[in-house]
Amino acid sequence: LKYSEEQAKRKKLHNQIQEAKGNIRVFCRCRPLSKEEISARYSTVVDFDAAKDGDLGVLTGGSTKKHFKFDRVFTPKDDQVDVFVDASPMVVSVLDGYNVCIFAYGQTGTGKTFTMEGTEHNRGVNYRTVEELFKVANERSETFSYSISVSVLEVYNEQIRDLLATSQTSKKLEVKQASEGVHHVPGVVEAKVENLKQVWDVLQAGSNSRAVGSNNVNEHSSRSHCMLCIMVKSKNLITGECTNSKLWLVDLAGSERLAKTDVQGERLKEAQNINRSLSALGDVISALANKSSHIPYRNSKLTHILQDSLGGDSKTLMFVQISPSENDLGETLSSLNFATRVRGVELGPAKKQI
Ligand code: ADP
Repeated sequence: LKYSEEQAKRKKLHNQIQEAKGNIRVFCRCRPLSKEEISARYSTVVDFDAAKDGDLGVLTGGSTKKHFKFDRVFTPKDDQVDVFVDASPMVVSVLDGYNVCIFAYGQTGTGKTFTMEGTEHNRGVNYRTVEELFKVANERSETFSYSISVSVLEVYNEQIRDLLATSQTSKKLEVKQASEGVHHVPGVVEAKVENLKQVWDVLQAGSNSRAVGSNNVNEHSSRSHCMLCIMVKSKNLITGECTNSKLWLVDLAGSERLAKTDVQGERLKEAQNINRSLSALGDVISALANKSSHIPYRNSKLTHILQDSLGGDSKTLMFVQISPSENDLGETLSSLNFATRVRGVELGPAKKQI
């Protein structure tokens, strides 16, 4: 009963916060300069003087500085733990019955995979999320029973691939509406996980099958969206109430524009599909932020898959990943502008640096 009361209180508080702030948060994370950038003597164009207030300054040339405002700004010095501390309240709310979506958006090489997957010794949001879910589920085990399962999908060229399927069927995977407000992809493997070892194995299996069939794994990953779905069934052992909720963790395709000379054949098709799905995502989130009456979910596979987890009372967190280097200024500004639009709060014109 104690937990039910607490849960009801949290829901009420959550609803009040949503009313005031909307349910979309944008965190900006900047990676360090790479060794190559340091030896090429590229300078840093990003300033973090007011990063703790969510302000980011970008030197756009001469003495001009453009300012951006986000819910959080992580500097190259912030580590995986710092990032997860701020993301964790959002992920835990999946245990309270909310649908949650977390994305990493940005140019290839800015740390999307580092933030979401991390490395074996420096794990990212995906693994830490499941670790936290198990921990909280365990703390609540007297009142709730939870069952957690995981799916891993890839969207490449507007086609959905199940990365946990042991054999790829020729049957096309499509999004279907299961019931009012519930969307799913029938036939996708849902691996039940009961401990962290199983989760790690599932994530590795997903990662490994991403590589299958592509001659350059890194290039392939940068042109496809990798989508991890954590499904939670919860049962309140006292009241008998059951809920189903989902948490999506998405490492998006690179947002960079291709050089005009590169764009032909397959690459052109890929580039168009990436553009289409990333702009569809931007359109959906900003339509939600602006409380628009029509939300264009159907414009891409990505947004269609996420339809029941974007909007309504679900929560969205976007990491906009950037490079600090002067060499990437154009792409950095384009990502920051996208994120600003998504947040539904436009800032005034660029300020002069004093
Ligand atoms: P993306 O997924 O956006 O293409 P990656 O995650 O592959 O980018 O990151 C590119 C490189 O930068 C990797 O070598 C990664 O380890 C490194 N990197 C990214 N972000 C950070 C960070 N915050 N701290 C240290 N290294 C980072």
